[in-house]
Amino acid sequence: SISVARRRSAELEEQIRRDPGRFRVLTGDRPTGPLHLGHYFGTLRNRVRLQDAGVETFVLVADYQVLTDRDVAERQAEIVEELLLDYLAIGIDPERSTVFTHSAIPALNQLLLPFLSLVSVAELQRNPTVKDEIAHSRQSAVSGLMFTYPVHQAADILFCKANLVPVGQDQLPHLEVTRTVARRFDERYGPVFPVPDALLSEAPLLLGTDGTKMSKSRGNAISLSATADETAKLIKGAKTDAERRITYDPDHRPEVSSLVLLAALCEGGDPRAVAEEIGDGGAAALKRRVTEAVNTFMAPLRARRSDYAADRTYLRKVLHQGNERATAVAEATLTEVRQAMGTLY
Ligand code: ATP
Ligand code: MG
Repeated sequence: SISVARRRSAELEEQIRRDPGRFRVLTGDRPTGPLHLGHYFGTLRNRVRLQDAGVETFVLVADYQVLTDRDVAERQAEIVEELLLDYLAIGIDPERSTVFTHSAIPALNQLLLPFLSLVSVAELQRNPTVKDEIAHSRQSAVSGLMFTYPVHQAADILFCKANLVPVGQDQLPHLEVTRTVARRFDERYGPVFPVPDALLSEAPLLLGTDGTKMSKSRGNAISLSATADETAKLIKGAKTDAERRITYDPDHRPEVSSLVLLAALCEGGDPRAVAEEIGDGGAAALKRRVTEAVNTFMAPLRARRSDYAADRTYLRKVLHQGNERATAVAEATLTEVRQAMGTLY
């Protein structure tokens, strides 16, 4: 559950402070559109912090996962480039972090086959995040990939033996699948994999302008690459409620509270104090405050992003180098897996 995961995350933070060399991070994103503030405060900021603390970091562009809920991969190369720009803008350093696309790593994908044998269909059908994504899917028929992608994700995490996965709350059920796969593989064939932990941020579920999970696919997101004017417009149109007085009460006032939280995260302050200061100013004052906070916070990041955007050759180099490194790691793991399974003839 979420409170258990939060407590565990606090313990992990302490261990990371003491010994960053013990950890290896894998996280990633689907190239389904521009990254947004939910990603930033939910996981991206943690990745950069871990990278900077000396934790070895792998950043995955999960391009096969796009096919879970889309008929075709529209403008895929362009979306991947935009994602790379977002990574560079927030401070992912390709010299220290391995940035790669999983479709380019055959040995990683091969892990899916033994891993699929370790989970039951009933377990896959119970996954609440998959159920939610099916409900929001653009496709009328649910594909086999939709049901099995949490197992594919286990391959993404375990190919590099990551033991730490900075994610948002929606990913917790998936991480359970990975933990199950790692445990069962090691029980059946001998010790190969660590059992990885999720690392939650202070904002594991940021809501969008309509009061539901901020999401690339739901048209409710403020993207990192938005201009100051676009940001102002999106926040102006955000859903609030009828009460004049602004309070921070995520359980009862999700829309208003998520705006308050956004301002607090950008200002580096406390959401309760922010709500108090706005007080009877109502939704208009709240929205002015959030707009100012987001645009101030994002300005340097957006400037870095447009600097990187000028050099597409560099972007391709980053990906090429990351894919090469990830391939070497995946091949070594696959050899170990086949050895453990007795299929290395
Ligand atoms: P899509 O709608 O295409 O699934 P998404 O916005 O859900 O996009 P993903 O690429 O699926 O983004 O998720 C990438 C990472 O960002 C995951 O770790 C996920 O938990 C985290 N994340 C996504 N949305 C939020 C959010 N609103 N708040 C906190 N973390 C989030
Ligand atoms: Mg998602």
